[in-house]
Amino acid sequence: MKVTIRDRAAEAPWGYGYVQPVVVTVEIADDCPVPDCGAKRGEPRHLRQCDDGAWYSVQVWDNPCGHVDMYEAVVREAKTLAQAAYDKKQATRATESEVAL
Ligand SMILES: [Zn+2]
Repeated sequence: MKVTIRDRAAEAPWGYGYVQPVVVTVEIADDCPVPDCGAKRGEPRHLRQCDDGAWYSVQVWDNPCGHVDMYEAVVREAKTLAQAAYDKKQATRATESEVAL
């Protein structure tokens, strides 16, 4: 599923200038990542938030299984998925060019 979240790790550390929320839309699994769970994640809903005068809009969701998705973990999951998709594409391309030869 696609979710819009805040990536605090991509922001300037606290105390360095104005707060500029970094909001990213990423693709994550539809299912809960907790081992031995794998239940469907909850439906994302929009949430407008204000941090130090800076407004931003993200999505939050409640998993019916009760496991809580932390944004930091979601960012990691999205990066892993994106990397896997990229690797797969590269592998497909390599195979295709071999066929072309
Ligand atoms: Zn779960």
